[in-house]
Amino acid sequence: MSVTQPEDWKAGDRVRIVGLVAAAQHNGKEGIISAKAATAGRVGVELGDGKTLAVRRENLELIDDGDTRPRCYICLESDRDESGCYPVSAGCGCRGEAAQVHPACRVKDSEYREVRDPNHWQCCLTCKQAYTPGPVAFALGKRWWELAHESPSLSDMDRMFIKGLAGHYYATALADEGRQDESEAIRAEAIECASVANGPGGVDDDIFYDPAIQLVKSIDPRTEHAKTLEEAERFEEAAAIYRRLVDELSALLAPDDAVFPMSMLPVDHALLTTKLHDVKQAYGNALSIWGLQKKLPQKLVQGIQVQREVLEYQTRVLGPDHPDTLGTKVSLAQCLVNTTGSEAYTMMMGCMDKLKELRHPDLRFAQQIVRNMQSQRRVG
Ligand SMILES: [Zn+2]
Ligand SMILES: [Zn+2]
Repeated sequence: MSVTQPEDWKAGDRVRIVGLVAAAQHNGKEGIISAKAATAGRVGVELGDGKTLAVRRENLELIDDGDTRPRCYICLESDRDESGCYPVSAGCGCRGEAAQVHPACRVKDSEYREVRDPNHWQCCLTCKQAYTPGPVAFALGKRWWELAHESPSLSDMDRMFIKGLAGHYYATALADEGRQDESEAIRAEAIECASVANGPGGVDDDIFYDPAIQLVKSIDPRTEHAKTLEEAERFEEAAAIYRRLVDELSALLAPDDAVFPMSMLPVDHALLTTKLHDVKQAYGNALSIWGLQKKLPQKLVQGIQVQREVLEYQTRVLGPDHPDTLGTKVSLAQCLVNTTGSEAYTMMMGCMDKLKELRHPDLRFAQQIVRNMQSQRRVG
């Protein structure tokens, strides 16, 4: 990496933002010089998240990056794709090498797949997380909407369904780009299609297309993915995946629900609330271990707080002796050992008999916590 003179710079060069005072949160971010947002005295910088900033030249460092530019995980190239975009992050749960992709490459990848399955159009195929708004989500929404009209493989009723879903998705992406008029027109068409598809004679028992159901179906694969990351000691990434799942499930369960306007089925609140707390427990645990691992006491404290909330809920709804409640106690005690050890000890001694009686899977772990504390003389 080296720094060269500003007059050599051209659109497409990679730069790093430095020395901002008022908007210091952008310092250290890397982006690509864009002709788009250039104003008098300022250079347009496209960030990986799809946002463009206008930055003074003195706040930019050119990165002479050779082959360190982000590579598209599909075509392995770093240059622009056919629509002029560099590889960008799609905003799913993936990080590092697997996170950068050309919008056009990602669209082609989906074109080989089933136009009926929203997962292939709204979600990452690796981590199963929905993409956040940005160039990749935009390109996918646009193409999905086109295919909803063109694809010869769709029956009339299927076409209505897919137009309903793809239209909502594309309209959201257009709105995010500031293209409000187009967004509203497509949204209106999508609502019309969805009401035809859901009306008399519609495929009202077909839950396949329901975004709420899609979210529920994504819980297990996403949780599995996060567990794999935890096994590889990548707790920060695992915590981020759990966190997003908690947010999405909370939105689904919220009473005034604008996030899932297309949902056709009543949501099983009791079941989903249990699921939400399972994921929340895993989130609190991953957050705590991340805090311990990286010596970030604030994360440990946050993680403990999240687990306390889960414990409060489980004790109230499932009862103090339910296996899930006991599992949370053991996980919480393990984290508390590092802060308030005496509470951890009391908590474990208070449920040891029940753990034994139930032959709880965490029994040995709980015994180990108690033994460690006794040997370290932190108590009694
Ligand atoms: Zn590519
Ligand atoms: Zn992903």
